[in-house]
Amino acid sequence: MFARALGRRCPSCGAGPVTTRWIHTVPACPRCRLRLDRGEPDYFLGAIVFNMALAEALFAAALLGVLLWTWPNPPWDALYYGGIPGLIVAPILFYPYSKLLWLAFDLLFRPLRPSDFEPPPPRSA
Ligand SMILES: [Zn+2]
Repeated sequence: MFARALGRRCPSCGAGPVTTRWIHTVPACPRCRLRLDRGEPDYFLGAIVFNMALAEALFAAALLGVLLWTWPNPPWDALYYGGIPGLIVAPILFYPYSKLLWLAFDLLFRPLRPSDFEPPPPRSA
């Protein structure tokens, strides 16, 4: 399921891609009709947590690597001015993956249920 999510495909059946533009996902999988938000409001809050944790973990790993590589004279200015845009860009780049990885993670703990395949309610204007 995680490999399918990293391919921007449905974690359940592998159909896809289930992203329309970089940050948008389709409401339901085109093959198995799994609702990507599982019919829950604010479902993707977990994806935001995944996203921020990954961005911060990447920054921490890069910081540690640069410090170990350049010690005892680390480039503090480069770390400072490179870290800020890195922490802004990384969550944007990882966003579609984090939504689908969150869904895969959730499916591990809460298996599919019939309500996951019900059509989404019509949007009110
Ligand atoms: Zn599917």
